[in-house]
Amino acid sequence: MPQTVDIGQRLELVPMDNHFEDITIGLYRQDLDVGAGFLVHTYSSREGAQDRIAFVKDAMCILGGLEEGAEGLLRFPCGSEHTLAVKRVFIEACKLKSDTDVVAKPLSVLDKKSGLNMVAALLGGGKYHISADGESRDVVRRIRVVTGGLGKLGEMTAVEGVDDQVGFDCHQNHDALVGLLLVRAPNVRSILREIEQSASRGVLSAPSAQT
Ligand SMILES: [Zn+2]
Repeated sequence: MPQTVDIGQRLELVPMDNHFEDITIGLYRQDLDVGAGFLVHTYSSREGAQDRIAFVKDAMCILGGLEEGAEGLLRFPCGSEHTLAVKRVFIEACKLKSDTDVVAKPLSVLDKKSGLNMVAALLGGGKYHISADGESRDVVRRIRVVTGGLGKLGEMTAVEGVDDQVGFDCHQNHDALVGLLLVRAPNVRSILREIEQSASRGVLSAPSAQT
């Protein structure tokens, strides 16, 4: 049975791709000499299924800044796994249907809760600074929410002593990835809860100081 071929550790699955005949598409992790490699795979033998896989891979490269390397595997230029982030890139890529939908996200997002435009600026070395364009009395808190949310979604590390910077442990820049994760960063529930709790205790701590 071809299914017994080791294609790696499954990271994520889209059980029914509603943009292509409800096929199942999986994301698998393999070890490369240069770090983690990702396989986008379907067992479907339907005509066109491989074209859909090729589309998803291309979309992941644009949305997440991945690149296609040896044997058709995707990888981040830094070689890191960035597990949560790559899963998110995969899921978002599978939501898209045509090439015109596939556009890298900007390094800014409208925070609906405050009406502020939240901006991520690259500081270098994989570190990003979050600031807000616009007026809101909630601005300090919302920056903490977005910074913490981004940290959580991207498994990024808070920069000690400040509430508005996070960085990747690989120390490499990932602009496309940050743009993609930023869309959801204002709504990460666990971060919202943490900030509520520290506010109620009157403690001002970095939102993503936890592991
Ligand atoms: Zn990296």
